[in-house]
Amino acid sequence: HEHMLPSLHEARPLERFAQVKSKALNIFSTLIDSLKQSEHFLSTQRRHPKIKGDLLIQLVDDNTKVVSEWVSQAAGIKDIISRRQMKIVFFGRTSNGKSTCINAMLREQVLPSGFGHTTCCFCSVVGSEEREGYMELVGPSDKGEKLPLTSVDQLVNALQDDKLDAGSIVRVHWPKEHCELLRYDVELVDSPGIDIDDYTDDWIDKHCLDADVFVLVANSESTLMRAEKRFFSTVAERLSSPNIFVLNNRWDMPAATKEAAKIRHQHIERCQEFLVKELKSVDLFTAKERIYFVSGKEAVERRTSVKQISSVDNLAVERKFEFERFELKLLECLSTSAVRTKFSKHIQKGVEVVDSLEQLMREIEQQAEDHLKALLRDQTECRESLRLMEERRLELIQVQEGEAGPLLIQARNIVCDICRR
Ligand code: GDP
Repeated sequence: HEHMLPSLHEARPLERFAQVKSKALNIFSTLIDSLKQSEHFLSTQRRHPKIKGDLLIQLVDDNTKVVSEWVSQAAGIKDIISRRQMKIVFFGRTSNGKSTCINAMLREQVLPSGFGHTTCCFCSVVGSEEREGYMELVGPSDKGEKLPLTSVDQLVNALQDDKLDAGSIVRVHWPKEHCELLRYDVELVDSPGIDIDDYTDDWIDKHCLDADVFVLVANSESTLMRAEKRFFSTVAERLSSPNIFVLNNRWDMPAATKEAAKIRHQHIERCQEFLVKELKSVDLFTAKERIYFVSGKEAVERRTSVKQISSVDNLAVERKFEFERFELKLLECLSTSAVRTKFSKHIQKGVEVVDSLEQLMREIEQQAEDHLKALLRDQTECRESLRLMEERRLELIQVQEGEAGPLLIQARNIVCDICRR
């Protein structure tokens, strides 16, 4: 890990995640190769002429099984890492502009906006290598059916599907070549309006536990609603120190009024109070970097070339810069959080596997050494016993010859006598 740090520091925030991911994938490929070699080595030992005896064969079989399990574990982890994404979840009341802000970040009209309550399930956007976008309905009874997606209307129809509820998700796979953000493995999730029902616990379990950053899209024309606050309080109970950004959206409306400065000040105070005192998720200094006043509508219009802002409209230019500042801080926080949390559990498991493999190989080496020593000891003992036996045999022969000697002479004399006669 330390070995990775210098180059990663220089990388742009989102590239850092991609670099760690690719290094982790390389390391796991090497680990899988080593494990497979160990597995092969152990499985060939079973047929080794010196491995005899049920106990020894059983030991080799058990070790081979353990290493085979590590191979599949490491392959599973590699697969999980390859699918790891940085996840941003957008929450807020219906019509506050969640879909609009997501489209602005994607720089394309991917999600339908302005449809009010019709979106009653989660909808996420992820990058796809394919040239055409497609969607996948993942509901309790759906098995991830792929559907073509050529127009926003199709997506609207999919989101209105009666079968889908707040536990379901419509996953839009959008060509990476269209959106830079998607090229960096970012997943953007749009949620049903916080005001529509009270499935919040279920939502958090299903869609939020692996979120790196939450964006509360608030309406700057009104104050934060109790439902919005309650939802994030539950999030903060379930996830320790969640990263929450507050977008005071629709700022193009109050910004033009005489009261703008006062309204802004009030929003800042209330949002800070919410993040620092109520949620206790950040300190005051960090909270200042988590609250923004933007116009998602202007941002999306500008970025999709529907409407450019006038350079003499200072307030619009200010909102443009504020949206850019929000994106920069959000992506920095996203990548830092994702690098810290998305791989650590798996890398830790990989380290455990390497340690266990080393331990096993040491044990095998020790067992082989003990076995060899035992063989040598047996050989020496055998050699000694044989030598003793040989000595004993010679002694016996001598004894036998000693006792049989006179008899032999007598017998030989008798034979000579007979012959002479
Ligand atoms: P969602 O339900 O939270 O996803 O809200 P949408 O993104 O669908 O937006 C609801 C409506 O508000 C749409 O008609 C948008 O064009 C409009 N809207 C979104 N953001 C802004 C904004 O910053 N300013 C203004 N004036 N209108 C906005």
